[in-house]
Amino acid sequence: MSRCWIALGGNQGPVADTFRDAVALLNRVAGISVTRMSRCYTTSPVGANAGNEFLNAAAELQTTLPPLELLANLQAVETQLGRVRSVHWGPRTLDLDLLLYDEQMLSTPVLTIPHPHMWYRRFVLDPLAEIAPDVIHGGHGLSISELRERLLSRPLKCVLLGGPVDQRVDLQRQLEAEYPQTDWPTESPESAWLAFCFESVPQVEGIPDANRIDVQAFPTAPEQTIRDVLAAALDSVRSV
Ligand code: ATP
Ligand code: CA
Ligand code: CA
Repeated sequence: MSRCWIALGGNQGPVADTFRDAVALLNRVAGISVTRMSRCYTTSPVGANAGNEFLNAAAELQTTLPPLELLANLQAVETQLGRVRSVHWGPRTLDLDLLLYDEQMLSTPVLTIPHPHMWYRRFVLDPLAEIAPDVIHGGHGLSISELRERLLSRPLKCVLLGGPVDQRVDLQRQLEAEYPQTDWPTESPESAWLAFCFESVPQVEGIPDANRIDVQAFPTAPEQTIRDVLAAALDSVRSV
């Protein structure tokens, strides 16, 4: 029996009811049982296409299913509850992400565990910290509550790496003005915990892989990606 955590999100229709229906459908699957559920949190949408405010929550599952089968079941429940896959990061009735599966680390074309974007998202960490504060995130070696605490420090230290210098300098100036809660130390990039990479930068002394965001890997333009990540990291989340 494995212990897993999932994130629930949505911003179309009666989302809290949809979450309840999702839990009921998951409990009906042989080999899955939902053992804990966080409260619901309202959060600001991230990404230009996202639409209205979101509702987010986290749940703990016990399962005998291997990770890929569990993911297939989560996707089947999304579909049953009306999710239509159109624009990436668009509005949706239900998004179910597999965050953690025991302490497994897995990277396949269809499934990455821990979920690759969970560590900088307040809308994931706030609900998850409510039900799993002491669970360790294998990639970072930090507990969920420690990951969340890092997001609360102000100013939040960030750095831009790689790409043309001119582009970096210009963008950094804009970001400093737009996000007064952030700090962009140029002297010692190692002290930053959120490092945005414009290209593959394998050897940056002192900045662990886990803190690097490869902006090329996102569906949006690099500058938009950085703003989306900052929005998710800085967003204050309200529980409802
Ligand atoms: P994000 O990943 O930034 O939260 P999203 O949830 O909007 O974005 P989706 O369109 O729901 O993205 O999913 C895209 C693909 O991500 C899925 O088809 C799935 O194969 C893949 N994926 C990889 N790892 C995971 C994971 N841990 N949980 C859920 N889906 C995953
Ligand atoms: Ca998601
Ligand atoms: Ca998803």
